[in-house]
Parts: sequence; structure tokens; C-alpha cells
Amino acid sequence: MGADELARAIEQVKVRLSVTTARLHAGGASAEAGILEAQVLMLEDPALLDGARVLVIGGTPADVAVAQTMAPFAAMLRASPDPVFQARAADVDDVVEQVRRALHGLSDVPPLPLQPSIVVARDLAPSQTAGLDRTLVVGFATEQGTATAHTAILARALGLPAVVGIPGLVDAVADGQPLLLDGDEGTVLVDPPPDAIPHLGTRATLVVDAEPAITRDGRRVEVGSNAANLEDAQRAAAAGADGIGLLRSEFLFLGSDQLPTEDEQVAMLEAVTEAMGARPVILRTLDVGADKPLPALPQPPEANPALGVRGLRLQLLRRPDLLADQVRAALRVAAKHPLRLMFPMVSTLEEVRQAKAILAAAAKDVNAAGANGPRMPVGIMVEVPAAAIGADLLAREVDFFSLGTNDLTQYLFAADRTNPELGPLADSLHPAVLQMIDQVVKAARRHGRWVGVCGEMASDLWAVPLLVGLGVDELSVHPPMVARIKATVRQLNAADCAEVAAAALELEGGQAVRHLLEQRHLEPSSLRPRTDR
Ligand code: PEP
Ligand code: MG
Repeated sequence: MGADELARAIEQVKVRLSVTTARLHAGGASAEAGILEAQVLMLEDPALLDGARVLVIGGTPADVAVAQTMAPFAAMLRASPDPVFQARAADVDDVVEQVRRALHGLSDVPPLPLQPSIVVARDLAPSQTAGLDRTLVVGFATEQGTATAHTAILARALGLPAVVGIPGLVDAVADGQPLLLDGDEGTVLVDPPPDAIPHLGTRATLVVDAEPAITRDGRRVEVGSNAANLEDAQRAAAAGADGIGLLRSEFLFLGSDQLPTEDEQVAMLEAVTEAMGARPVILRTLDVGADKPLPALPQPPEANPALGVRGLRLQLLRRPDLLADQVRAALRVAAKHPLRLMFPMVSTLEEVRQAKAILAAAAKDVNAAGANGPRMPVGIMVEVPAAAIGADLLAREVDFFSLGTNDLTQYLFAADRTNPELGPLADSLHPAVLQMIDQVVKAARRHGRWVGVCGEMASDLWAVPLLVGLGVDELSVHPPMVARIKATVRQLNAADCAEVAAAALELEGGQAVRHLLEQRHLEPSSLRPRTDR
């Protein structure tokens, strides 16, 4: 590996860091973006470049040359009496490691989990932490690091609970084992006893707010929670969520090489609905495919899995029997609990009609068995642009819409949501996304339907005034965000938000929308609850 490869690798790392920096700036985490900017400066330092190049020309392998050139700098920081400088040594090591990985063509981002998970690692570099997909990583715990290390600071900026510095953790935890992570206490409980979970509600980890979220001018916004399993539902209940706005049913199917029976599904759904009591739970039918493989349901590989046979498509095209089992289980539970059903990845009216036909047949079976109850409300995820554009027709067929802004943004910009380099492109505050949402809400209103948002956008404090202004009825967020989002809603005036949202629809891009929010004092720092300031 010569000087040219070294120059290319350094350039590659600089580009990647600059992209992540832009994403952090866009998310309002400017102080944290500065950490990665400092790393870019290191890579532009002529002392480093020249020193490493000389070593490479002298025959030293490029990765060793970079490590040797940076070592004195890291050592100097480590020897400083100031803990702030000591922590910066890890940032230098991180830069060296990033260049090494780029030289060897290794990925910089840890492999993604299949369901929302806590990442457990010996160490995570700041650049890796910043690259974590927040839709799948709900927190992390590492053996190395300190609370003042940039990795932990970045985690806070990204809103991820993190515990660092637990020796022996990686060997103590198996893949898939339940963990209770308490970012405030700095504790990780492996295999927590069930009775440990409700106690979270009385601790600072989970701020509890069961009061309704009503804007200053009297508009109620439901603040529900997303859940991927029973523990999430228990946390959501403890946090005071108004319901479960998205129950990702994949969890019922993961972790086993057997598909769950209808009775097993009923038992799991009953546990979740019982945890929520009188509050509604929206069950999303299985959303898997080649992009989210299921051990129990192997599918042939596809060239473009995100555009392939996933979600409702898989159920209708290949496994209507699975959909029938799932909706029968849902109907049985809905007879006793406020359960609603939602289909993912809908593109056309025809798909909704087919799914409803399967539901109607299942309802006959359930009625024949005497387990019928009140009619179960049925909705769809609006996450494919064709569904957003066709919302007026679709609204005639369903009771509600839930905007899956993660996929809607991905498909609208044709930007793979797992590719960090495209993060800034797929900006959910871009007026193109806002226009889609506006269109969907207006179509829903014409037919007397309600609209929720269950993508990450609902947990984004920048987006809340816009979503309220566009007339969204429900926000479904991460359990720890429930109280914060409710507090934010209470500080808003819905009529003012509507005016700002209407203006945002006409702007040039996401940054212009953020500037408008700042001008109108609707950015996250102005909306922070008084007690946090
Ligand atoms: C979405 O696409 O916004 C969504 C909520 O679904 P998922 O993230 O599970 O694809
Ligand atoms: Mg989706």
C-alpha cells in the first residue's frame, strides 16, 4: 500500500466525517459535530500527512505509518493532567483506526441489528456512534470509555441512552439476551426480572407524564409510543404514553426458526394490550422481506430488497396464510382489548382491498368460533409515495393513516435509509416531505379519518411544531421521549404552527425550514421545558 492509497483512504475518511458532521448540524447537535470536525482537521494536518508519506515511501505499511505519526500526539494528550484533553486522545486513536479500516476496505459502521436493540461492544469510536441508525439502535453499552468521552457525549446528542466502562460486559451478554440499560444510573441489568421494569416509571430514566398533551389554544395531540416487544410496551405504559402507535410485530417472529402459532400470537398480543390497559394498541402486521430477513421465513435474495417483496407485499404475494393467522389472532384479542390493525408498505388500493378480504374471511372464522367483538379499526402505514399521492382513494378504505416517515423519506428521495452518506439528502424536514404529509392529512380530513406519525420524525423536536401545524392527530415516539414530546406540544399554539407549516411548504430545503423555525422561536432550544434550561 503506497502513498496514493494512503491519500485516498484519508480522503474517504474525511468525506465520511464531513457527511456525519452535516447530519449532526442538521439535527441541531452543533457542539457534537465539532468533535468530528476536529478529526477532519487532524486529517488535514500537513505534519501528519507528510510524516506518514515519508514513512510509506521508506517502506512502512500505510496503516502503521499513520499510527506511528499520530502516536506522539495521542500520548501527549493522554499525559495531560486535564481529563478533557485525556479524553481527546481517544479521538486521535479513532482517526487512526478509521484510516486503517479505509485502507483495508473495512466497513466503519457496526453491523445493524434486525430489530430495535441495545448494541453491546468492547468500544465504539465517536464516528461509529454517530453512524448508528437510530431506528434500530435504542442504546448502547461498552466495556471501555468514560462518561466524558466523546462517544458518550455523542450518544446523548443522538438521544441514545448509553452506559460506558463496564469491564467484562461483552463476554457476559449473549446475542438477543434481554438487557435493562439505565443511562442515568450507569447500570446494565442482564436478564432483568419482570418486576424491575415497571419500577423504571419512578426513576429519572423514564420521565412519567400521563396527562394529555393539549396545545395552548386547546388542540389535543395524542402522544403514543412505538414498541417492538412487551418490555417496550411496559416502558410506554410507565411513561404515560397515550397508547402504542406502532407495535412492530416482527418481534413475535424473530429469535425462533419456527413461525409462531395463532395461539402464541394471541398470548403475546394479550400481554402487550394488558400492559397498556384501556389505552389503544396499533398492531402492524409483519413487515419483513429480503431487507429484514426472518430465520423462520427464508426468502430468495433480491437485487434491491428495500424495493422488493417486503411488508404487505410478501404477505399478499407469497404467504396470505401468515396474514390470515395474524389477523385472526388480532381479532381474537380485539374482542377484549382496544387493539387496532395496520398494514405496512402499502402502495395501491388493490393491496388494501386484498388485505381487507383476508381480514373479512378471518372475521367470519372468529365469529363462527364465538370469539367476535366490536369492529377492529383498520389502518395503513403511509410510507410509499404512491400511497401518499393516492391518500384520497385509500382514505375511503381505512379508518386511519400512520405516516412511516422513515421509509416515506427514503423512497421520496430515492436515498437508502441505511447509507449514512445519504443521511443529509433524506431530510424529513425538507418541504418535499412536508408537502406529502400535508396532502395525506388533507385527504384524511376530507373523509373524517385521523393521521398519526410513527417514523422517527415524530420524536424529532424540530419536526413537532410542523407536524402539529400540518394537522397530525397522533405522534408515536420512543418511550423515553413521551414526556418531552408532550411538554413540547403544550408549549405550542396550533394556529401559529399551522401558519409556520404553511410557510415551510414553500421553502427551498430542510435548512431553510430550520431557519424559519428559529425565527419563529420554535426550534428545540426555545421549546425546551423550563425545568431543563
Ligand atoms: C417507517 O418507515 O417510518 C416506520 C415507522 O417503519 P419501519 O421504521 O419499521 O420501517
Ligand atoms: Mg417502514
